[in-house]
Amino acid sequence: MCIMNKTAEKVSQLPSIRSFMQQADLTAKKSLGQNFLFDLNLTGQIAAAADLSEGTVFEIGPGPGGLTRALLLAGAQRVIAIEKDRRAITFLDHLVRASDGALELIEGDALTLPLWDIGQAPRQIIANLPYNIATPLLISWLSHAEAFSSMILMFQREVAERITALPGDTHFGRLAVLANWRAETEILFDVPAEAFTPPPKVTSSIVRLIPRNMPLYPCNQATLEKVTQIAFSQRRKMLRASFKPYGGEALLESLDINPQLRPQELDIVDFCRLAERLEPQF
Ligand code: SAM
Repeated sequence: MCIMNKTAEKVSQLPSIRSFMQQADLTAKKSLGQNFLFDLNLTGQIAAAADLSEGTVFEIGPGPGGLTRALLLAGAQRVIAIEKDRRAITFLDHLVRASDGALELIEGDALTLPLWDIGQAPRQIIANLPYNIATPLLISWLSHAEAFSSMILMFQREVAERITALPGDTHFGRLAVLANWRAETEILFDVPAEAFTPPPKVTSSIVRLIPRNMPLYPCNQATLEKVTQIAFSQRRKMLRASFKPYGGEALLESLDINPQLRPQELDIVDFCRLAERLEPQF
């Protein structure tokens, strides 16, 4: 039998989100990447992928609060939800009141908030992300990956594949190098477009990232970003051609890297070794 805490019990007794929406103007804005989830089974499935028993859960963009409700129903002790749309902040007042202090809303831009400095460890990020800023958000969190115990995030399927790809995979590129350098990544499940209101044009996927205790190999993230940018901006070229201005074949051979490889064939650790070597030049 599932025993609910007091907050979860109060949240479970709230009228449906749709009934609150009839009294409020919360029509979805494309400019804010608003594609809402109202199906509590689905939001419950996302919340169930996390261990919510301690620490702070950050939700980016609670919108009308479907996922926020699921987090509270699943027993989250502390949820800090960051939302740019003031209409949603006003709308969610009923949920803040029902949460008995478990839910705090911050009106602001998630791109500028240092989540790693807020709340209590273990920190997790769980969100149906606004797709227009999902990748820059992930890259900024990865640069402080050690501050988070997990990230459970909705992306467009194509982006999810680019995050979780391994060397040799078609989708292996900059994002996969950066993500898998700092975290273990996996696609948990797909979410069809019809599950959202309004439906986006593409299928979405939930990705779980579990930050590693240590990066796969120590190097500077900004340098690694530059190295991957050089390598993948010319995907079809051999590494010796892309890195010609930095020493080309001689540079790669001195690192025991086959100069004839194409970037999608190179291991993440070798990208890091290249970054380590080139750092003084960048
Ligand atoms: N979590 C809700 C759900 O699942 O129904 C809404 C998800 S919707 C895809 C993305 C949310 O992020 C919207 O509520 C939007 O207003 C918010 N948002 C967009 N840009 C943001 C930003 N820079 N900072 C914080 N929230 C933002």
